[in-house]
Amino acid sequence: MSAGPLVVCDDVARTFGTGPSAVVAVHGTSCGVHSGDRIAIAGPSGSGKSTLLHLLAGLEIPTRGSVRWPGLGDDEKRARDIGVVFQSPSLIPALDVGENAELPLVIAGVEEPARSERVAEALAVVGVEDLAAKLPEEISGGQAQRVAVARVLAQRPRLLLADEPTGQLDHGAGQRLMDALLAATGHLDAALVVTTHDNAVIERLATRWTMHEGRLHTTATPAVPS
Ligand code: ADP
Ligand code: MG
Repeated sequence: MSAGPLVVCDDVARTFGTGPSAVVAVHGTSCGVHSGDRIAIAGPSGSGKSTLLHLLAGLEIPTRGSVRWPGLGDDEKRARDIGVVFQSPSLIPALDVGENAELPLVIAGVEEPARSERVAEALAVVGVEDLAAKLPEEISGGQAQRVAVARVLAQRPRLLLADEPTGQLDHGAGQRLMDALLAATGHLDAALVVTTHDNAVIERLATRWTMHEGRLHTTATPAVPS
């Protein structure tokens, strides 16, 4: 297994558009994430949280600087080691909940019975095991969000990136989802990075980063009262 940080950003910037209408979503940012890290990225809407998370995932190409994954091996292996929970759950409408959670494992070539076991375990961990046969249109937004988390947990990533995963959940359900994410991170010896507005989520994570107008502040900041 490769040593070193899972992901490193070196003076990374991401601009959308060109000319006068260009938006600098992330200004020159340097940061790193290591196994065992539990990081909250807080900040107001539009401050660049999602863009930074996508850069860490390798889903956005930086306009400047570099993103490297020294602890995650080559490109193919890296894709399997990074799990992303998107801000909108993005379940596939024609597949039921169980099939949605299973799909990344099919693509990764995980054989039965391990595949079914991993899906069942992940659905149970986030409390949606009873929904396995439902279609996405038959469940609520909050349930879909939990299914999206289960889909990533089943993948057993080493770098788990979640974009406002509790955004559609009430306090209790949000806390249970955080229990699941933190427990999975511990079992997998993974790193967890969560973008959020929610102080109850920020308080669960040891390291607090904040984004403000595209600038990342990585010094430990106490959670601000709402
Ligand atoms: P946050 O997640 O903190 O709300 P985002 O990273 O989504 O912030 O967005 C940061 C800024 O970049 C915002 O001004 C947003 O409008 C802009 N932005 C994000 N993605 C795109 C895109 N694909 N095209 C154009 N502008 C974008
Ligand atoms: Mg966002």
